[in-house]
Parts: sequence; structure tokens; C-alpha cells
Amino acid sequence: MRALALLLLLAATPAAATRVTDLRVDGPFVTATLDGPVETVKALSLDAPRRLVVDLSGVDAARRSAKGSGDITAARIGPFDAATARLVIDLKVPMTLAAAAVDGSALTLRLTPADAAAFARAVARGRRPVPTTARLIADFDTGDEVFAGDQGDVAPPPAAPRRHGARPLVVLDPGHGGKDAGTISPYAGGASTTGAGGYEKNVVLAIARAAAAELRKDGQVRVKLTRDDDTFIELNERVAIARREKADLLVSVHADSAPNPSARGASVYTLSETASDAVAARLAARENAGGGVPGIDTSAAPDVGDVLIGMTQRETMNVSVGFAETLAKSMAQAIGFRGEFHHFAGFLVLKAADVPAVLIETGYLSNPDDAALLQSDDGEKRIGRAIAHAIEAHFAR
Ligand SMILES: [Zn+2]
Repeated sequence: MRALALLLLLAATPAAATRVTDLRVDGPFVTATLDGPVETVKALSLDAPRRLVVDLSGVDAARRSAKGSGDITAARIGPFDAATARLVIDLKVPMTLAAAAVDGSALTLRLTPADAAAFARAVARGRRPVPTTARLIADFDTGDEVFAGDQGDVAPPPAAPRRHGARPLVVLDPGHGGKDAGTISPYAGGASTTGAGGYEKNVVLAIARAAAAELRKDGQVRVKLTRDDDTFIELNERVAIARREKADLLVSVHADSAPNPSARGASVYTLSETASDAVAARLAARENAGGGVPGIDTSAAPDVGDVLIGMTQRETMNVSVGFAETLAKSMAQAIGFRGEFHHFAGFLVLKAADVPAVLIETGYLSNPDDAALLQSDDGEKRIGRAIAHAIEAHFAR
């Protein structure tokens, strides 16, 4: 009864606004740690003194400031009105917003230096909404801002999918395997017959198998798996398999984890020279390390930041971006993911210069709801089918 009274009391209270629990500046990245979602993000560039102002609605922020780093002098956040928090970033040099990512646990902004004319244009535009979901930001060569509908926003049109032979070939790559368990869920013991145990390696194998079964049933696309059992494969070998098979697309399947158990939802990553936000950079470091298992040598592979992306790879990246957009739509219908969907990051497995590749993090094993879905036969089939249908839609274009 007391529990019921408490429930009634809670029900009568309006939903609590998201709070900001930390703010930091690290080079061009500004990260506000959050305990919930952000409704909308709007940004405004101001001159004399130069600063970037970012308004977050649905956020209730106590005053907090962070020391600067690099070209950023300092950052501070505080209440703007009853329903909005205002983040002010003081700039040493003219900079604009290059990328914004929001999930349930953080807002991450990446700023990029701008010339005087570009900064003046940003100031003249005034306050405007910042896209943070399901929008692909191809900013790695233009340095342009991310604002939707920008005249100067040059996102290359996705290149046409390529195919070898009558039916295209997709290589599905379940992450980890064997001695490399990947992420281990604290919510193990799901009912799934194939992906149980809380190990990422089992969950992603079950999802990849479900996707392969759906593709084979429909018969439009040929499919190969880098592993169809609990074997360990080096990252470089996964890429080599896709190349050897002359794959038209490589889809690496993973499951995520985060320190904040409320973080959930799927994310799709394609290659870039540098990770587009701090979260993607951290994740790439973890996946590239093969889950921290000793004996995995990634030193042979050059740091992705050192790789000059040639014309072939740029073309390949555009195909990958096109597929990532299709996948985002398909996953949204099947799973109802939340939060930021797309990042660019330097995952080693995406580095097959001549094979378009995406890496999908299917959900968070550190979140109880996602973990239950990812470890259920039904959830694995649903996610697998969504991936399969995105692949079919991609090649049907
Ligand atoms: Zn993984």
C-alpha cells in the first residue's frame, strides 16, 4: 500500500527535467554529461567577444563552468529560462559547430576553426536548430557547419551502390568471438537460445545469423558471414575476408555498453579520418582493442588519423553513408531506437578502402531493457530482419 501511495505521488509530479552533471572541454570537444534526454538543441554564434551559444530545451542546469582547452577559452552552463539551459563557449579564434551528438547520457559538440567570413556568416544567421538525430554529417573535408538546410552545407550525395555479378554480396561480420567475449552484460540470463549468457559475441552472432537467414529466404542478395560459430578472428582478417570475397558491402555487428545504465538504442558508424565526437572516439578505441583481450595486435594497422583518404576511399565512404541512412530508417521502424544514430569513427574494421562498410551497435547490453531485447529470440530476429531489409533496400536502389 505504501508503494502504491508513492506511485500515485510520483504520477502526480510532472516529469523531471534533464540535469547536467558534468561539463568539460577537451580540445575541440565540449561534453555535457546528462541524466536524461534533450528536447531540442539550438545554436547561435556571437562576435565581440567571440562565442558559441547553445540552448538545450528540456534541461535544467545548475550553474557550472569548465576550463578551456586548445582554441576554446572556457565553457559555462546555467539556466536560461524555466525550460531551457544555455551553454556558452568562449572562443580564442573564430570557430563554428561541426557536429552535435545527443544521447541519454551526454551532449557532445565538436567545434571547428572557421575563417573570418564563415564566422561572420554564422553570426548573421542567428539562432537556429541543430540536427542531432539520423542526419548524416559529411563534414570531414568541408569543415562546414551541421545546420540543416544550410546553403553552404555540402553533404556529398550518396554514391550508387556497387555490385559484383547479378546478385550483390554482403559480408556480415559478427564482432568478437572465441577468447574475445566483447562487452559482458550485467543483465545476463536472457531467454534467447542462441545469444544468451550476456556476452556480446553470442548476441551479435545470433543477430547476424538472423539477418543472414532473412537474406537467404528473400534471395535478392548473396550473404557470407566472417564467422558462423564462436571463433576468434583478428580485425584485419575480417576486412581481408570482405576483400577476398569481393564483397559489395561489409556490415559489422556489435552491441554497446556505457557507464550510464540509462543509455540505450542503436548507433551506426561509418569511417572517417577522425572520430566525429568524443563518444565515437572512445568506442572506436574499445572495439579496436578487441575488448581488451591480450594477444590482439592492432599495432600493425596504421592509426586511422594518419590515413590519407584517396578518391577510391572517398567514393566508398559515400556508399557507406548511403547505406547507413537506409539502415537508420529500417532500425527505427523495427526497434524504435532513441538518441543519436550516426557517427563517424575510425574503427579498424571499416578500413577496407575498396569495400563500403558500416559498423552497427545494435543496442546497449548495459541497459536492462536493451539487454532483455538483445538476449531474446524475438529481439534478435527483429533486429536481424531490420538489418537484412536495409541491405535489400540499399541494393534495390
Ligand atoms: Zn563490439
